Amino acid sequence: MLEPVAVAPRALVDYEPHAGADALAEVRRLAEPLRGARILHVNATAYGGGVAELLPAMTALMRNLRLEAEWRVIQGDDAFFAVTKALHNGLQGPPFELTAGARETFERASERFAAAFEGSYDFVVIHDPQPVALRRLLPDAAGRWIWRCHIELTDRDPRAWALLRPLVQAYEAAIYTLAAYAPPDAEGPLLAVIAPSIDPLSPKNAPLEPGAAGAAVRRFGLDPARPLITQVSRFDPWKDPLGVVDAYRRVRKRFPEVQLALVGSMASDDPEGQLIHAEVMRAVAGERDVHVLSNLDGVGAPEVNAFQRASDVVVQKSLREGFGLTVSEALWKGTPVVGGRVGGIPIQVVDGETGILVDSIDDCADACARLLADPDLRRRMGVAGHERVRRHFLVTRELRDHLALFLALSRGDPSLIPTGDYGGRP
Ligand code: UDP
Repeated sequence: MLEPVAVAPRALVDYEPHAGADALAEVRRLAEPLRGARILHVNATAYGGGVAELLPAMTALMRNLRLEAEWRVIQGDDAFFAVTKALHNGLQGPPFELTAGARETFERASERFAAAFEGSYDFVVIHDPQPVALRRLLPDAAGRWIWRCHIELTDRDPRAWALLRPLVQAYEAAIYTLAAYAPPDAEGPLLAVIAPSIDPLSPKNAPLEPGAAGAAVRRFGLDPARPLITQVSRFDPWKDPLGVVDAYRRVRKRFPEVQLALVGSMASDDPEGQLIHAEVMRAVAGERDVHVLSNLDGVGAPEVNAFQRASDVVVQKSLREGFGLTVSEALWKGTPVVGGRVGGIPIQVVDGETGILVDSIDDCADACARLLADPDLRRRMGVAGHERVRRHFLVTRELRDHLALFLALSRGDPSLIPTGDYGGRP
């Protein structure tokens, strides 16, 4: 069975103070001809990571617009998720090796998901590689099938892509976060470019009472009166948590009071998380001012919200990054971001305007130190960052783009396909 995920209702009108009346009017105009359309989103997990973060609002707002939207998750086991995590990593960069046993695990599980698929939809959006084989296995299932890739593919291992390519080619359209991610030999599906987004009304991003952010980080043993650098990320090698620790140690030489929080949830589809978590814990053993926290310590969405607000600088020192929701989350809260110059980070961090882009541990340390030394710069970048997210990275924009794509497919009108133009930035 593909497990349905319950989502709390949301009303589009509540987004008007953030997105503006014009943006909402456009969303309503695009939704009108789609009224009653049956939409299904399928992904691998209801908790942890960026996809699970954005589907509640997308699903609920589609329902609010009178589309019959559903969200379901596949039921994979540890062996399956070990294969798909290796595939995910291989799509972001070599090495990737597929043993006969791993291929068998992937194929058998995919067949089980296909056998469990039921219902009839007008549009089916399959997120990421875990459920990607569904379309190939269900070529006669009704509806327009779209593969939504959230991963950075620029440096993919050809062996990982070779596994995926025929599965992706079974779709009518594919959505990438950046045009540059679309493999040139992915011919077949129509190409749409849509960046992810954040929900300004979710517990992760909603405003907090004055003083609440400081009080929340104090509960985890941090001192809100001292400088704080935070990275919020799954424990994953591509997020470079050890690089963040190194950069922090260099910053501390100039700012002895500075604290570091590494906040990272364990996603149910990410078996690698515990290993990396253990590695990080070993690396920071005995460091009084480094705080490694996870959902297992009680850090949920409101606490992540608090850390992003209470921090002087948020770091996202990824080595690969499909988009990096944590960047928009921090910018939305007026906190400047020091981000790796990779993947989707540069469309959010406009270098020198909403944060600082970095290419190394040294760069990262210098950028953090520059921001810690200059409260005015932090404020200016925070204001610019909030505005950039408001214009380009709120859920209302992502909703608009999906509706436009649905219309493009049903009317056969390619001029409606979103092309991912975010204010002339890369
Ligand atoms: N996240 C969280 N708690 C954590 C770590 C991450 O809630 O301890 C959330 C984070 O706030 C963001 C999402 O998980 O909303 C991660 O999305 P992102 O696009 O940054 O990375 P992904 O995990 O999809 O690679």
